Amino acid sequence: MSYFDQHVHSYHSFDSSTPPEDNVHRALEIGLGGVTFTEHFDTHPDDWRSCTYKEEVYTAAIEDLRKRYGSQLFIGKGIEVCYQPERMDFILNYLAEHPFDLVILSIHYFRGQAVHGREHWEGITVEEGTRCYLENVLDAARFCERLHRQRGRVFDVLGHLDLAKRYTQRFFDRYNIDEHEDLIDEILQACLAADLVPEINTSTLRQNLHEPMPGQRTISRYAQLGGQAVPLGSDAHLPQSVGAGFDQAVSMLRKAGIRHTVLFRNRDRSVVPLSD
Ligand SMILES: [Zn+2]
Ligand SMILES: [Zn+2]
Repeated sequence: MSYFDQHVHSYHSFDSSTPPEDNVHRALEIGLGGVTFTEHFDTHPDDWRSCTYKEEVYTAAIEDLRKRYGSQLFIGKGIEVCYQPERMDFILNYLAEHPFDLVILSIHYFRGQAVHGREHWEGITVEEGTRCYLENVLDAARFCERLHRQRGRVFDVLGHLDLAKRYTQRFFDRYNIDEHEDLIDEILQACLAADLVPEINTSTLRQNLHEPMPGQRTISRYAQLGGQAVPLGSDAHLPQSVGAGFDQAVSMLRKAGIRHTVLFRNRDRSVVPLSD
C-alpha cells in the first residue's frame, strides 16, 4: 500500500502523547509512501490555553525526521486549523508567515461550543445538532470560497466533513447524515468553488462506525459534482492507527468512480493513482 496518510498527530498536539518518530516507524512498517503530520492549531479562547502547537519545535522535529527517514518515505509538515470565524484574521496571518506542506481546515465547533462535549448536546435532537454542525461546515466552506476569490487557495483540505456523526454515535448510539443531503450538496459545491478538497478521514472506523468521514453517499455525490481526487487521513493519535482503514476508504473511492488520491507537498497538489 503506497498511500500517503495526510492526517496524523503526535505529541506536538495537545491530545496525543505519541513521539512523531513512532508514527514514521509505523508508516514504514505498513509500507506507506509518506506521512504528513497535521498538528492541532486551536485558537478558540477556551482551547488556546491548552494548545501545545509550537512552530519552532515542531519544524525542527520534522527536519530531523526528514534527515533520518526522508530517503525512505515522504514526511510532510501540515497543520490542522480549527475554524473559528472571529479568529480568522489571526489564523490567516499565521499561515502566511509559516511554511507548510498542507493546511487542513476542520470544524470542531457548533452552537459556539465544542462538538465533542457531551453537555453541549443537551436539549437538542441528533437531527438538530447534526444540521447545526453541517451549517457551520457550510459557513467555513463559503468563507474559503470568498477567500479563494480574493487571494487563491489558503486552505487545502476540509477535515472530517461530517464529524458530528462521531459524537451522535458515541452519545446517542446513532447518526443520520443522509437526511441532510441538501446541506451536504451545498458544502460540496462550495468546496469545489473554493478549491478545497474534502479528506476521507478513517478515524470513525476505529470508533464503532461502519463508515469513514464522509461516507459513501457523500463521496459519490462529490464525484458526481466533479470531484476527482481526495486525500486519505487516519487522524491517528496513536502509532498503530497510522494508515488504518485505508483499504475500506479506497474501495469507497472506487465505488464512487474516483481513481486518484492527492498528495500535498509544499502546498502543491499532485494526484496519485489508486494502486491495483
Ligand atoms: Zn479534527
Ligand atoms: Zn486531527
